[in-house]
Amino acid sequence: MGYNVAVDGPAGAGKSTIAKLVAKEKGYIYVDTGAMYRGLAIHFLKKGISPEDKEAVAKACIDADVSIVYENGVQQVYLNGENITGMLRTEEVGNMASKTSAIPAVREKLLELQKTLAREKDVIMDGRDIGTNILPNADVKIYLTASVETRAKRRYDELASKGESCDFDEIARDIKERDERDMTREIAPLKKAEDAILVDSSDMTIDEVVSKICSFCN
Ligand code: C5P
Repeated sequence: MGYNVAVDGPAGAGKSTIAKLVAKEKGYIYVDTGAMYRGLAIHFLKKGISPEDKEAVAKACIDADVSIVYENGVQQVYLNGENITGMLRTEEVGNMASKTSAIPAVREKLLELQKTLAREKDVIMDGRDIGTNILPNADVKIYLTASVETRAKRRYDELASKGESCDFDEIARDIKERDERDMTREIAPLKKAEDAILVDSSDMTIDEVVSKICSFCN
């Protein structure tokens, strides 16, 4: 069994930025489970499937092969043999992932992949249900959050720096909708595990959050 650190929290809380830096500092592998849901979302988008059509989504899972490889320590996501890493982080893909991740067949598809990675390696894994569902016996559990304004500002800056057109109010609305969906869905909703440490990053620098989390880890 590897050493396992679970990081959960809402969209835009800084999970991936922080987890990557903690991984570097501690020598863990960083596993981004949101990227796996986004990978499947690309599969559904390519097939023109509506996220409301749960049967079609479940059926489409059958011929989707999502795999993860690490190139120079950086996670790459493959969908049916194609490296789709560069296509993952758009709002369209994020919204599709948020909607389809509530469908049981989608979660089942990715469950084993996530558990296997944590069994075999020392990992810091981020997502929505890692501490509550995927790795209930994780060595350290963190619930990382921040205010909606802070999270929307971070998403805005991330998109703007890539030259993508974006609107702050629209991003804030999307984040609220995504929180609502992720927290109220029936299967594996986002919530803080009872034994998770709460970290609110609204008024903290990246370095402060990283050193706080590192202080809990071996
Ligand atoms: O974290 P990220 O924004 O990349 O995740 C995209 C979507 O995938 C989330 O909005 C969430 O609905 C879903 N997700 C999930 N469980 C995880 C990771 C992500 O349901 N462990």
